[in-house]
Amino acid sequence: MAFDAGTTSERAIVFDKSGRIVSLAQKEIQQYYPKAGWVEHDPMEIWSAQLGVAVEAMSKAGLNAEDIEAIGITNQRETTIVWDKETGLPVYKAIVWQCRRTTRICDGLAEYRDMIRDKTGLVIDPYFSATKLKWILDNVEGAADKAARGKLLFGTVESWLIWKLTKGRVHVTDQSNASRTMLFNIHELKWDVEICALLGIPLCMLPKVVSNSEVYGESDPSYMGGSIKIAGAAGDQQAALFGQKCFNAGDIKNTYGTGCFLLMNTGENAIDSKNGLVTTIAWNKNGKTTYALEGSVFMGGAVIQWLRDELGLINNAAETEELALKVKDTNGCYIVPAFTGLGAPYWKPEAKGIITGLSRGVGKYHIIRAALDSIAYQVNDIVSAMSHDAGSVLRVLKVDGGASNNAYLCQMQADISDVKVVRPECVETTALGAAYLAGLASGFWKDEADIEKRSGINTVFEPIMESEVRSKCIDGWKRAVEMLI
Ligand code: ADP
Repeated sequence: MAFDAGTTSERAIVFDKSGRIVSLAQKEIQQYYPKAGWVEHDPMEIWSAQLGVAVEAMSKAGLNAEDIEAIGITNQRETTIVWDKETGLPVYKAIVWQCRRTTRICDGLAEYRDMIRDKTGLVIDPYFSATKLKWILDNVEGAADKAARGKLLFGTVESWLIWKLTKGRVHVTDQSNASRTMLFNIHELKWDVEICALLGIPLCMLPKVVSNSEVYGESDPSYMGGSIKIAGAAGDQQAALFGQKCFNAGDIKNTYGTGCFLLMNTGENAIDSKNGLVTTIAWNKNGKTTYALEGSVFMGGAVIQWLRDELGLINNAAETEELALKVKDTNGCYIVPAFTGLGAPYWKPEAKGIITGLSRGVGKYHIIRAALDSIAYQVNDIVSAMSHDAGSVLRVLKVDGGASNNAYLCQMQADISDVKVVRPECVETTALGAAYLAGLASGFWKDEADIEKRSGINTVFEPIMESEVRSKCIDGWKRAVEMLI
């Protein structure tokens, strides 16, 4: 059973040995926006909603605790929780990854940019947990003092859930989640004393860092009608990489959600990106750490929401597939959806979006098509950056997420990136990855080969675009991007 503690909802999914869904339950959680740019969740709601959906998923399928082999957890990454060790109560709301309140703290760290990048693989940004944790210690009355006396604990969401499930017996975090805190040395595989001291974070409040696939403990029997082993955990994107069976160096996946998240397995090498990507830990298993390169596109499926909500060009996201195919191309039109700046590999936070190539011949369907294409072009830019960094040519891109249901988009991606795009039968890859990690630790699956051989049927999109057409399309995109930066 996977616990998928996401940004908008908590979900529990029970999988069988072939990786198919047996049962699923989901509950949304409340989003708090106390000020512009601030985002919070209630940690107690995360916990109770997560437990609630677990029980619901089990009862829907008539399962008891002893029918569940193990629990694997995957979670919204970076989100920061601090709680009292004795009372088990959070001292503040969870500060969510999207929250920008620590921008000023980050600005103040500029001189440590290289040191932090070398040690953590990350760029200094409010996104990561470190400055959020510092903010809590600095702003919650008495917190810094209590933390120094060993009375407070820090954890990201999986750490909090494991602590709650074990009634405070186990305080751990896995390497993939630790690597997103900006406090973890990804080469030495330990909390970095220098960075912690710089931010005034007492080491005693940090969880023990464990692997992504091992038995951490058992859930208290009072919660789910018996105890269940908790045997795996990984941050959502890393879990998706595992769930997509990107087990080997060079394997790459993209999740087409609101934004797009690309991760490439780089094996035992922590590759330092020359192209604005971050280096992160994919997972640690059987004593071996696997690294990944990560890049994200801010506006992925959100461009389609914009067509629907701001432009009113479509009624729903799914119909874009049919509408885009009403025309044979975009008639020279490009959309660069830099609504919130442009991320990797351009890094232009101040940029605003543009539509180029407008003539009287450009109509609604061309714009819809250009919007879908803009997702593929942005993903392609990251794919190219990754290939350069890794020094390898990409042959297969595994895809998932809401917008991967769009066959036009998948085909366009295959054509523009000149790769085979593979969409698995089960697109719940995040939860599946957590389940695999737990099931491998418990012996439910023997090894990765055992997982591979039980996989479902994939949908494959082969590149069919002629190379001259591809070059022309990409040149047009590059020109459009240049106009904006
Ligand atoms: P998230 O996990 O970020 O909430 P999802 O994986 O649920 O996102 O994907 C939802 C996003 O994908 C939305 O932005 C939506 O506009 C887009 N989307 C969903 N279905 C389609 C589709 N068939 N074609 C294009 N975009 C789609």
